[in-house]
Order: sequence, then C-alpha cells, then structure tokens
Amino acid sequence: MTDYAALQQKVEEEKNKLVEIARAIHSRPELGGQEFFAAELITGYLEEKGFKVWRGLGGLKTAFMASYGDAGYHVGFCSEYDALPDIGHGCGHNLIAVAGVAAGVALAAAIKDQPGRVSIIGTPDEEDHGGKVDLVRAGVFDDIDAAMMFHPGCSNNFHVESLACRDFRFIFHGRSAHASSEPWEGQNALDAVIQTFNGINALRQHIKDDARVHGIISEGGLAPNVVPDRAAADFIIRSRDSGYLNEVVEKVIACARGAATITGTTLELVESGYPYDAMISNRVMADLFAESLKESGYAVDSPHQEGRGSIDMGNVSLVTPAIHPLVAITDQWVPGHTHEFTALCNTDEAYEVMLTVGQAMAITGLKAIKDPGLQAKIKKEFKRQTGNQAN
Ligand SMILES: [Zn+2]
Ligand SMILES: [Zn+2]
Repeated sequence: MTDYAALQQKVEEEKNKLVEIARAIHSRPELGGQEFFAAELITGYLEEKGFKVWRGLGGLKTAFMASYGDAGYHVGFCSEYDALPDIGHGCGHNLIAVAGVAAGVALAAAIKDQPGRVSIIGTPDEEDHGGKVDLVRAGVFDDIDAAMMFHPGCSNNFHVESLACRDFRFIFHGRSAHASSEPWEGQNALDAVIQTFNGINALRQHIKDDARVHGIISEGGLAPNVVPDRAAADFIIRSRDSGYLNEVVEKVIACARGAATITGTTLELVESGYPYDAMISNRVMADLFAESLKESGYAVDSPHQEGRGSIDMGNVSLVTPAIHPLVAITDQWVPGHTHEFTALCNTDEAYEVMLTVGQAMAITGLKAIKDPGLQAKIKKEFKRQTGNQAN
C-alpha cells in the first residue's frame, strides 16, 4: 500500500470514532484552562493509537503533547478545545481539536516504519489567555519543524493574516460622596471612564485603517446617588504591525491619563493576558495545504469574505514555520461567536469538512517529511517572511 493510501484508509477507519469525539466535546463546552474533559478524551484516544503522551505542558493543566516516531522531520498539529461563555463552541474549536487528531493519526499510519515524527499539541485557552504563548515560552515548539492547524469559518483563506493585539484594563480611583447633597466633595471615577471613551473616539480619525480599539465599561459605580470612587474599562487594541500597535497603545493610554487628570482621579493600568503577535502564514506550506485539500476532495465554494481577528498561533508562527488556514464549513454566511455558529459546528457537513481538512493536513505533512527539498523551501520562506532562523 502506498503512504497516501495508508493515510486515507486510516481516516476512513477512524471516521466514526473521530466524529464521536468532536460531538462529545461540542456537547460539553469547557472554558479556557478548564478543558479537562476534552483533553482527557483526546489523550486517552491517542494513547490507544500508540502515541506517547505528555500532559500539563508549560504549567497548563489541560495542555498536552502526543507524539509518534522518534527521528526525522517533525510535523506538529495544534488542537484547540476551549469554548466561549454562554455561547459554547461558537468558534468551532471542537472541529479544530479533532481535525488535528485526525491529521496526527493519519500521518502516523503513513510514516510507520520510516523516518519522520508527528505530534499533536493540545493548546488550551485560545479565546482568552493565549495558551500557545505559554507553550512557545516553555519551548514546546522549538523541536517542531512545521506547525499546522485550521480554523472553521464561512470563507476560504489559506494565507491567514491576523492582527497583533494587546489587552488593557484601566481602573480609575476617585472619591465617593453623596451625589446630590455634597457632590463637590467627590472625584468621579465613572466620568474618567467616559472621558477615556471620548478621547479614544476622537483618536479614531487619526489612526491607520488596520488598527482597532474596542472596549467595554466593566465597572461603572454601584448606585446613582453615590459618586463612584471606582470605575473600570477593558480595551483591546489591535494592528497588523506590532510596532504600530505599540504606538496606538501609547495614544490610548494617553487618553486614559488625560481623563484621570481632568477628573482628579488616579489611573491604575493593568495589561491583561499576553500580547498576540500577527500571524505569518508560511506561503510554501499554505500553498501545499491548498493543493492537498483539493486532492482530498474538498468542494465547498463560499463567496464570503471574513475580517481579521487575533490568534495565539501568531506567536507560534514567529518561532517555527506555521499555517492557520480558514476553511469554510458552509456556503452560507454565519458569523462566528454566535449561537448560530455553535449549531453549525455540530452538523454532518461540518464534521465532513473536519475530516477532509484532517486528511489534507496529514498529506501536507507527509509531502514535507518525504521531500528534503521541500523542507529547505519551507525554512527559506520562514526566514524571508519573519527574519528569524528556523530550527
Ligand atoms: Zn474565537
Ligand atoms: Zn477560534
């Protein structure tokens, strides 16, 4: 049997079990860092399939690595499995999780008895904290030659570019007072939050098109008859370019400082979560994936165009050649992070795409493992795109 046939046969053989795992994860959504059910289900299955498993990587209880093969070119598939509060799997991470598992199991079958390594890296808490940043810092990706994952969506984009981003909480401290009888005694922290928003809204005209600043009031006082002595706002600031992102961050912080000055309050500035780097999709790998997806029989033709968010795979893409293709699971327009998208991620058509993508990622990995010339091309492209040296 050819390597290709072995790979395809494995996906076919494991199909029912893989869909069962994806359905189970969908039916028990877990928030970032709490994905114990998903991580156990996946690692248990991979151990049964002959993978060696390490749990709790990078200090994250629900992170893992499952590896097969001991020498040669090392292909890594990232599995995400966290869900969103209230919405459940409205980002389709149940599909991401199992596409990575399918790719790993299929590639392992194809490289049996020959050099080459394959690992599935379980990367928790993508939506909030950025688990991959911890894993990058712990050196988990240092040994990986090519990293891949996919994201389900309503359009096809194999060369995904994301925005770098940073998260901040601005907490204003003022002085409370009776809002009617002695308001002159108060220093109004809520006013500081409102003036921060006003400052940022004035700033919008003067920042570049790819920059985004969006926020909410997370604390706004406790009663209308008390001058709020504490109020807070959470903001996310994004841009394609990390350098420009930092410039916008300084301007946004200046708005908050100005708001503190005019209200007589003090500003406590907290950077929450990790900075996400912009995704740099390795062009050689992305083209190879597109070709492999076609060979796997993928046929969804979606006319839609989705915008850009921020992903922790961006941080991975700066340390090893990586792709994060967006693949349509429907030809309809269903925005992500909604209850409608959650429902879509539990349909037969979505599971069909998940298996096809798993097979395509495995074929992409197989092509790279078998062709040293291609490995060199991937490395060279990584150096050209990032300025960094690959492993
Ligand atoms: Zn999401
Ligand atoms: Zn997502």
